[in-house]
Amino acid sequence: MRNQDIANSILDLVGQTPIVKLQRITKDLPGDFYAKVEAFNPGHSAKDRIALHIVENAEKKGILTPGDTIVETTSGNTGFSLAMIALVKGYKCILAVSDKSSQNKIDVLKTMGAEVHVCPANVAADDPRSYYETAKRIHKETPNSIYINQYFNELNIEAHYHTTGPEIWKQTQGKVTHIIVASGTGGTISGTGRYLKEQNPEIQILGVDAIGSVIKKYHETRELDESEISPYKIEGLGKNLVPGATDFDVVDVYEKVSDKEAALASRELVQEEGLFCGYTSGAVIQATKQYAEKGIFNENSFVVVILPDHGIRYMDKIYSDTWMKEQGFLE
Ligand code: PMP
Repeated sequence: MRNQDIANSILDLVGQTPIVKLQRITKDLPGDFYAKVEAFNPGHSAKDRIALHIVENAEKKGILTPGDTIVETTSGNTGFSLAMIALVKGYKCILAVSDKSSQNKIDVLKTMGAEVHVCPANVAADDPRSYYETAKRIHKETPNSIYINQYFNELNIEAHYHTTGPEIWKQTQGKVTHIIVASGTGGTISGTGRYLKEQNPEIQILGVDAIGSVIKKYHETRELDESEISPYKIEGLGKNLVPGATDFDVVDVYEKVSDKEAALASRELVQEEGLFCGYTSGAVIQATKQYAEKGIFNENSFVVVILPDHGIRYMDKIYSDTWMKEQGFLE
């Protein structure tokens, strides 16, 4: 539902996000380009979809009842969605967050009533200090808690299979030829891609990965190549492990983007389209340009790019001139 009816709670407004035609930023590329703007979710990102789906699935199974605790690892967005859902439904929410997440994101999560544990980003996933291990430990120590485990939860894919995929199919009246999607847990690309390929196997599912992440190489070789791993700035994109919530068979090809180009593309998206979105949205726009350079599109292409979240969470990063200069991204 959206706007026409009175919502019973804010959770009824999750999903059914608009698709907007891009007017200027892609004007030199062949084909028509459209953006599905996930910032229109009440929690300002696509993560509302998976958070609600996983929580409601646990409720249906009877393993989550009011007063219980939701535990998760998160770069911020899933945390916001879970905290919001916890407030509305009466759960406690404990989040293990990477220290790469902006202070602003962490403050917002606390405002939303969550208990936040900040963990180092640049340690191995199996290190007891990592946010995975921290969340697992908290889950074990907290009676009546569930661990969302978005990186290894098939319900993450299912949420997008049941919502994002059908929405794009319906909104484009089946005309979509390509989708371009940022890959973190891989839930969005796998669920949306799987649904769309079932409707029309010709639809190309184009992934976006970060330089410094193992995802693209894993897709090509089915082997984890640790030499691909290096620190990078984009939050929520790529990974230093192989996420179980990615169906690599659904994805046709991946493209990697740099921190600098993704940051500049985020700013360009604001200037050219008035779309104030996050860092991975810039990554998706940058990847769109790179795919175009490789000759993936033609005049008949109907391309939908998914913009995962809102820009307000990045004021102290990509939308701060000081931060951009510190990174060497601006003169
Ligand atoms: N962009 C942002 C800002 C995110 O937080 C995430 C989630 N990690 C993604 C993109 C990637 O989405 P997914 O996890 O579904 O692959």
